Amino acid sequence: MTEIRAARGLDLTARSWSTEAALRMFHNNLDPDVAERPEDLVVYGGTGKAARDWPSFHAISRELENLADDETLLVQSGRPVGVMRTHEWAPRVLIANSNLVPDWANWPEFRRLEAAGLTMYGQMTAGSWIYIGTQGILQGTYETFGAVADKRFDGTLRGTLTVTAGLGGMGGAQPLAVTMNEGVALCVDVDPHRVQRRLETRYLDEVADDLDDAIARVLAAKASGTPLSVGVVGNAAEVLPELLRRDVAVDIVTDQTSAHDPLAYLPVGVALDDWQDYAATKPEEFTERARASMAAHVEAMVGFLDRGAEVFDYGNSIRGEAKAGGFERAFDFPGFVPAYIRPLFCEGKGPFRWAALSGDPADIAKTDKAILELFPENEKLARWIKMAGERVEFQGLPARICWLGYGERHLAGLKFNEMVASGELSAPIVIGRDHLDCGSVASPYRETEAMADGSDAIADWPLLNAMVNTASGATWVSIHHGGGVGIGRSIHAGQVTVADGTPLAALKIERVLTNDPGMGVLRHVDAGYDRASEVADERGVRIPMSAG
Ligand code: NAD
Repeated sequence: MTEIRAARGLDLTARSWSTEAALRMFHNNLDPDVAERPEDLVVYGGTGKAARDWPSFHAISRELENLADDETLLVQSGRPVGVMRTHEWAPRVLIANSNLVPDWANWPEFRRLEAAGLTMYGQMTAGSWIYIGTQGILQGTYETFGAVADKRFDGTLRGTLTVTAGLGGMGGAQPLAVTMNEGVALCVDVDPHRVQRRLETRYLDEVADDLDDAIARVLAAKASGTPLSVGVVGNAAEVLPELLRRDVAVDIVTDQTSAHDPLAYLPVGVALDDWQDYAATKPEEFTERARASMAAHVEAMVGFLDRGAEVFDYGNSIRGEAKAGGFERAFDFPGFVPAYIRPLFCEGKGPFRWAALSGDPADIAKTDKAILELFPENEKLARWIKMAGERVEFQGLPARICWLGYGERHLAGLKFNEMVASGELSAPIVIGRDHLDCGSVASPYRETEAMADGSDAIADWPLLNAMVNTASGATWVSIHHGGGVGIGRSIHAGQVTVADGTPLAALKIERVLTNDPGMGVLRHVDAGYDRASEVADERGVRIPMSAG
């Protein structure tokens, strides 16, 4: 297999920057520095793919190279199925991935269709060509801990201690996200290699010799208000109850062990070296023991809750597994979206991201500076942009992510377009976002858990979101099913818009980057959130039947 990497620089392979952008971002998703298993077209998230198979990959590439600016390519679950005559405001690509009629939307049926070559899993940004590597999870985790700081600790985690477990692919972002918010983190993992890896990649500051040493280090840092993250090797189902027994002054507790899969959670009393064999040969017995350990782990989390700590589930289903393990109070603490992220969604805030098609990191440095100048009053944003500039390694095309809200995103997009037009940036910029956004997803176990009006499973919103982005001038638009939480459990939409420096791009950017987060505001007004109604009133979002 030849290695796929996005082209860089100003020479076009396609006929315009709109289609060149789609081509480069499609290829960038499969860059070996970006994708988990590029040889299988898998970008991230288990089996999230960029194209259905290699013939589809080549056909999509060929079509994007030849597509005119009044044509639209249709992609059905990673396979190009048609090119239609449209117009220059229409998206150049429309994508529908993994969608099934609800009665058929389960894993066995999906896997049957996938094996027959009829569909593929698109995850969120794999099949919609706007994945940017682990920077995305780091920023989301930073934002979540920032929201915890705002809710309980006057906007900073300085002088607080967070205890969590799991230093894997996603969970490994936790220590850095806590220290970026100026706090102290104690992170537990059973696997010393995982702990070591986070140390080597500078996500973790220090590794303690044992629990006594770890406690001494974090309490000293907490007392002096010094940001610090300390890893310790141990089983969370033993360490957390021990911290509770010793009455350690913990302020925040969460968890990112891979609890969603009981075979990926190590039960107490099982040696690390025996894990894989035991799970493979006796999956039922292993599951029972893992759930019993998760029950002990979550019981300790609830113990900290009872003592006044801020405790939340970080999207890994540990509450459900602990309940299955016999602990009745597992759902005493909330999931992270209703607890912290929803107030941001009410303001149309979400994971805004962009990539430099030049391939030149200097272009991202210039956009970072532009963001700092545009939003000087936003201290949390400034802290993130500065620290990301210093600490985040780019994967594939240089890219940046930050959370911006309604009334902010279009200002950033228009500024980038001006910078392309003036030559300050060396090539166009693509502007997109994760599907995990304020108005683009219906997902009752995550983004729409516990909506105020009980509308968790209403999936009209992501469909309206995709339609309004299509009508507003986005360059490519996608509707997916299942990403993040699995088949049957979510519907979500994405958009990407190109800033190529032209006046037409400015018109499109202004509309898309206003209307796309606008969906978040009106979705939350509709569900009865006062903050969303205030934002709609203050910033002029027109809502026909709003009570206000
Ligand atoms: P991973 O498999 O890479 O890492 C899990 C880590 O947990 C491993 O390092 C493992 O050694 C450790 N571990 C397992 N059992 C343990 C125990 N008993 N005590 C201490 N450590 C233990 O997984 P990941 O990609 O880091 O994801 C972690 C979890 O977070 C998953 O369940 C995932 O679905 C969830 N997740 C949620 C969100 C979100 O909604 N915010 C985002 C990403 C991931």
